[in-house]
Amino acid sequence: MPTALIIGASRGIGLELARQYKADGYRVIATVRKHEDIARLHALGAEVHQLDVTNPEAIAGLGWKLDGEKLDVAFLNAGVYGPRHDGFPTTEDFDAVMHTNVLAAMRILPIIGPLVAEGHGRLGVLSSRMGSIGSRTSAGGSLYRASKAALNSVLMDAALTWGPQGAICVAFHPGWVKTDMGGSGADIAPEVSVHGLRNTLATRKAADNGKFFNYDGSPIPW
Ligand code: NDP
Repeated sequence: MPTALIIGASRGIGLELARQYKADGYRVIATVRKHEDIARLHALGAEVHQLDVTNPEAIAGLGWKLDGEKLDVAFLNAGVYGPRHDGFPTTEDFDAVMHTNVLAAMRILPIIGPLVAEGHGRLGVLSSRMGSIGSRTSAGGSLYRASKAALNSVLMDAALTWGPQGAICVAFHPGWVKTDMGGSGADIAPEVSVHGLRNTLATRKAADNGKFFNYDGSPIPW
């Protein structure tokens, strides 16, 4: 039975990833930040570990729990948008967004990258088109944009490290998705986004390692 790891599976895109991989016959290992969300994932039949991605001790603990696993699929999904206003971000806002979206990836990918390479599997990181510098046409959301651009660089480190060992590591834009983060104005349902993300990840070739894709498989410039 193939194994899928979803980091940040309590709601939104992460929960739908856990649901669809489980329905597809995968063994699903899911992480959630809050204790009260564990039961929701257990009800899906997932193995659940509690992980706040900003907690380095908890990340080290996850490493111990995953020791010896071979991952067919891993998604680093947990992320925050931060303040919605376009004034200067406070130091606290900067620290919170960068910690969750960037530093966590720097700590988590070195743990799960080798397990994906071991399984000759595929790693997807939930970035955002807002982090693409090459496709920018508007300003705004600068803290979130900067965090996802930095995350893209961290993904490239993973691709260059574990790609040669057999992993395929890519960054994703999931579309504008109806979740707590995407809001009610978003244009696609989590089911549609996740179907596309899963299909795109499954069909990537070795030459796609270290690239950036929309959920429907179309390429996005860095
Ligand atoms: P949601 O806000 O609905 O969910 C965010 C998820 O991240 C939750 O599971 C949340 O857990 C988790 N998370 C946040 N901080 C932490 C933390 N410190 N430790 C562990 N888990 C944490 O967002 P979406 O589902 O919409 O987004 C998922 C990913 O997709 C994000 O990385 C986002 O940036 C990206 N994305 C989303 C878009 C959209 O339109 N929705 C567009 C582009 C990118 P908890 O419930 O505990 O808070």
